[in-house]
Amino acid sequence: MKKIKIPVNEPLLKGNEKKYVLSCLRDGYISSSGSLVKKFEDKFSQRLKRKYGISVSNGTAALQIAFEALKIKKGDEVILPSFTIISCILPVIRAKAKPVLIDSDPVTWNMNVDQIEKKISKKTKLIIVPHIYGLPVNMEPLMKIAKKFKIKVIEDTAEVLGLKYKKKECGTFGDISTFSFYANKHITTGEGGMIVTNDKNISERCKSLRNICFNNERRFMHHELGWNYRFTNIQSAIGLAQLEKLNNFIIKKRKIGKIYTNAFKKIESFNLPFDKSKYAKNIFWIYGIVLNKKSKLNVSQFMKRLRNKGIETRNFFWPLHKQPVLKKMGYFKNLKLPVSENLAKNGFYIPSGLALSNKQQQYVIKIIKEIAS
Ligand SMILES: *Cc1c(COP(=O)(O)O)cnc(C)c1O
Repeated sequence: MKKIKIPVNEPLLKGNEKKYVLSCLRDGYISSSGSLVKKFEDKFSQRLKRKYGISVSNGTAALQIAFEALKIKKGDEVILPSFTIISCILPVIRAKAKPVLIDSDPVTWNMNVDQIEKKISKKTKLIIVPHIYGLPVNMEPLMKIAKKFKIKVIEDTAEVLGLKYKKKECGTFGDISTFSFYANKHITTGEGGMIVTNDKNISERCKSLRNICFNNERRFMHHELGWNYRFTNIQSAIGLAQLEKLNNFIIKKRKIGKIYTNAFKKIESFNLPFDKSKYAKNIFWIYGIVLNKKSKLNVSQFMKRLRNKGIETRNFFWPLHKQPVLKKMGYFKNLKLPVSENLAKNGFYIPSGLALSNKQQQYVIKIIKEIAS
């Protein structure tokens, strides 16, 4: 097999990352104690104009803590899309709450908000809303429904930091919004995550849960079960440097997206990501392609041909209602969500990381056009 020449994602770490990390090493603050943690939480939440930022060890942990902070109980119903990462459903399963899945919109690939209301019951307590691949969920009608039925919202903003829905920043809609700073996200700290909220009680609860519910009254005496999901001073150092570059990163991502779309728009066997919807301009977290009926190759064949040319790709998400582990547990028998199933079967994404050079991108385009012709 040929060596990978162009990875599907490579982060950019060319700002103040090194300088800030070296300052941690010099001062000896490398764990979660250290002044940069609070500084990063403050800078991050201020950017989103939210009152509280609680850093955690990754985006999956952020979802777990957010969920726990809302005190969802066994038997409560939680609505979420099927086409998302498993991290969204893990806390629901672990709490023995009931997941209720929604199909995707075929154009934006995000959860189809029109399908939510008919799935609401008296037991519905929460909607988990992940924005997928660079476009937002249609938040206005979703928030109306949440308000009408008094349902809480956790917004999973891992893939769209910096994206606006109409004039409002994603990550400012949910009672709680979560983020990931994994290496392929808009800003990275290697591993890392953040929770933002305007609610002081929720914020305090999240802080306690991420720190094994230590309390001030007597160290090592606990009234609740928590986790150690703390974020470190070194990660904060990298995060602060990354945050300084976020606006440039967004410009770069959109440029990569635009170049791909211009190159591929005449290829009839491709369904491409939407450049603009009525309410948002794609931020192109990743550049996805869905092969349609006109394609002579299936996704694995297409990906293999690219791999042979040294180009790395990734499959789309596997829908939650088809996850072997959940099937085995007895969930989602006979559930059919055709849009999610089609995306999973026919979608993949191509190199679209921040370190992708123009020369690399032109090579990817040339090879893809050859394979698709
Ligand atoms: C990346 C991602 C996560 C998980 O984040 P980790 O930091 O990898 O745990 C959660 N939700 C979505 C939508 C993601 O893209």
